Amino acid sequence: MSVSYGDSPARQVIVEKAKEEGIVWLGGLEEMWTRCMGDNHDLECLQYLHCTSSTLHNKLSRAEQVTIFRLRTGHNRLKHHLFSRFKIGDGPNCPCGANRQDAQHVLQDCPLLDDARLKYWPEPREMNQKLYGSALQLGITAEFIYASDLTI
Ligand SMILES: [Zn+2]
Repeated sequence: MSVSYGDSPARQVIVEKAKEEGIVWLGGLEEMWTRCMGDNHDLECLQYLHCTSSTLHNKLSRAEQVTIFRLRTGHNRLKHHLFSRFKIGDGPNCPCGANRQDAQHVLQDCPLLDDARLKYWPEPREMNQKLYGSALQLGITAEFIYASDLTI
């Protein structure tokens, strides 16, 4: 797998953009970039660069847009919606035991997703930023959902 998000100017753009957005990523973007460009390619790292790169063009991929839209509207495949609206599934509960698996629960509260949440948002973020923030913020939210293996 190779990645070519450019040399030094592109890197500078990403670093600046991230600073602007207040993004802290796996101990720092500089370190991440070094890891990505070194031998030690790591999938999440590449995904993040991809995400950053696409949002630099000020748009989300189609899949990312759909994910954000479904999270915003509550019309999604999380258990609360499927059960309360369509009586699909064994109930509205999350596998963690909480009585409502919805966007708020998944993005902010579910203990089963604590590790992923901490990785994608080392600093706590409001729901509002996760769902209505900048394109970069939205990209991270979408990445978190993919990483969590939830069907949205
Ligand atoms: Zn849960």
